[in-house]
Amino acid sequence: MIVSIEREPEVVSGLWRASGQVVALRDLTWPRRCVRCNSPQVQARALTVHLRWSPPWVWLLLPLGLLPYVIARVMARQTGRARLFLCRTHERQRVVSAIGTPILLVASTIGGMALASITNVSMFLLIPVAGVIALFVFPRGVVFPTIITSDHMFLRGAGTAFMISLPEYDGIRDSADLHPDLT
Ligand SMILES: [Zn+2]
Repeated sequence: MIVSIEREPEVVSGLWRASGQVVALRDLTWPRRCVRCNSPQVQARALTVHLRWSPPWVWLLLPLGLLPYVIARVMARQTGRARLFLCRTHERQRVVSAIGTPILLVASTIGGMALASITNVSMFLLIPVAGVIALFVFPRGVVFPTIITSDHMFLRGAGTAFMISLPEYDGIRDSADLHPDLT
């Protein structure tokens, strides 16, 4: 009898793909495959990623001053957690990025202050802008949220091979449909 040795696609609850993003439940252990390259040869321990997201409207408060902005940002903040896996190569890249980002942030802050001193624009407006640019140039962490709702996180940063292995998100599921006892 010939038995197919092709691996069955891993059944994953609470993880989908949607237009170039991973949709995940807010606190979930992801499958044991590298999030970047989909390799099953991953580090033994899962990496716990803490994710924070505030709705974009909080930026509108920035011209009113730093305090209203910070208060709104903290009040509207949504958080989540993902325990995910990386292969050796991508774990090394993550460590390099984690060291490089603070350096770039400090450099951009100094740059922002220098720019503020030669223009009339408020320094307090320029520093956060410079910081955000730095975060986009050198995104910190493995995945980063574009939206966090009360149930789900929409995350950029996962590799294509990892994403196409996930089922398509139809937008109607929520955590109640994925109770672990029923799977
Ligand atoms: Zn990898």
